[in-house]
Amino acid sequence: MFIGHFGVALAAKRVAPRTSLAALILAAEFLDLIWPIFLLLGLEHVRVAPGITKVQPFDFYDYPLSHSLTMALRWALAVGLVYHLVRRYVRGAWVLAALVVSHWVLDFVSHRPDMPLWPGGPKVGLGLWNSWTGSISVEVLLFAAGIWLYVSATRARDRVGVWALWSLVALLAVGWLAAMYAPPPPDVHQLALGSLVIWITVPWAWWADAHRESTNAETRQAASLH
Ligand SMILES: [Zn+2]
Repeated sequence: MFIGHFGVALAAKRVAPRTSLAALILAAEFLDLIWPIFLLLGLEHVRVAPGITKVQPFDFYDYPLSHSLTMALRWALAVGLVYHLVRRYVRGAWVLAALVVSHWVLDFVSHRPDMPLWPGGPKVGLGLWNSWTGSISVEVLLFAAGIWLYVSATRARDRVGVWALWSLVALLAVGWLAAMYAPPPPDVHQLALGSLVIWITVPWAWWADAHRESTNAETRQAASLH
């Protein structure tokens, strides 16, 4: 799953209005943000295997640190705790932890049975990637719903608040289409380097979110007290 995770992050703004979209995206994408780092460090492994699923040409045969369920729960706890220590916003901390876990759940739906329940444990996955129609529908639906929820929960304070958000949306849509239709990267090193680019969405989201405010008067007041 790719833009679906971003859809869930955008939607979460409604539940944790005082948490920046940057933190919401960092949490929803956390497992995929640390994955290329583990690949480059040689701690996790992947193979380029065209045809392994209809949509994705990668064989994720070894990624227990980033994508096992028990590790996802630990990362969720860590992200939630760090956020709570920094921001003292309990609701935001819980939402971020839930977003980290939501990544595992959505990946479980998309991937073939390659997602370990724990490092070395049984691997599961429902294999939505074996259907183009299914994959595209679910991703587009989640992304569109997320955008709609985020846009209705916030409003732009200035023009940057409009352009920064919509350019991020366009970047994600183009990046997703490119990842699906472009030929697979020649080797794993290129794949890891390419995947690191996703990190750019975090400061970009921070920039957009900082130029927007909640449409809810109470939330605006609470935010101005902080
Ligand atoms: Zn993932």
